[in-house]
Amino acid sequence: MNTIGLLGGMSWESTLSYYRHINQGVKSALGGLHSAQLVLYSVDFDAIEKMQHQGDWTGTAEVLADAAKRIESAGADFLLICTNTMHKVAPLVASEISIPLIHIADATGAQIQAQGFTRVGLLGTAFTMEEDFYKGRLSEQFGLQVLIPESEDRQHVHRIIYDELCQGKIAEDSRQHYIRIVRQLQSQGVQAIILGCTEISLLLGQSDSPLPLFDTTAIHAQKAVELAIATDPKP
Ligand code: GLU
Repeated sequence: MNTIGLLGGMSWESTLSYYRHINQGVKSALGGLHSAQLVLYSVDFDAIEKMQHQGDWTGTAEVLADAAKRIESAGADFLLICTNTMHKVAPLVASEISIPLIHIADATGAQIQAQGFTRVGLLGTAFTMEEDFYKGRLSEQFGLQVLIPESEDRQHVHRIIYDELCQGKIAEDSRQHYIRIVRQLQSQGVQAIILGCTEISLLLGQSDSPLPLFDTTAIHAQKAVELAIATDPKP
């Protein structure tokens, strides 16, 4: 089995989801007592969050690159950064290691394309919704038209991620708020919704949504399972 490298802690609430999904995936593929062979390095999110909101992305990239090198040295065959937002600095992190970085937007875009959807809504942090590092990749590499909520709704989605979900708070009024935003995007003709933040699936499940949901945490974790159990020696 190949060894999975996880760069987590952003937040640890969603890193738990990765750990669970990956082990469940390996168990369901290989059966019995099989579990994932992985290396996890988990950062202190408080420092990362402060740098994000101060615009110090170089600082965040330094922390993540250092962590990625440690993961590589510990024997990982490939790396997952367990957050959508921090893929803003994925090219910098990838340039510091020699193992492949498995991009969360690529895993997600491939699944959406395979299911034939072309117009999708994106929920995530303001960085992920508003900047080009994520939406641009989805449109350039997978031909997707990506719509985001209007400004005030984006602020609510962002605030709920940092003030609630990343701190383990699951609130019914926030769930209803997200459902209203999904309906609003539906009225603009989107065919599916990307849960483009690794904590959103803690709040919003498929049964809450009138549209198909693409949960980036589950999709990224599943990709890791496929690469871990692949018969080729390395991804
Ligand atoms: N986990 C979240 C994401 O997928 C937000 C936390 C972060 O800023 O990294 O974007």
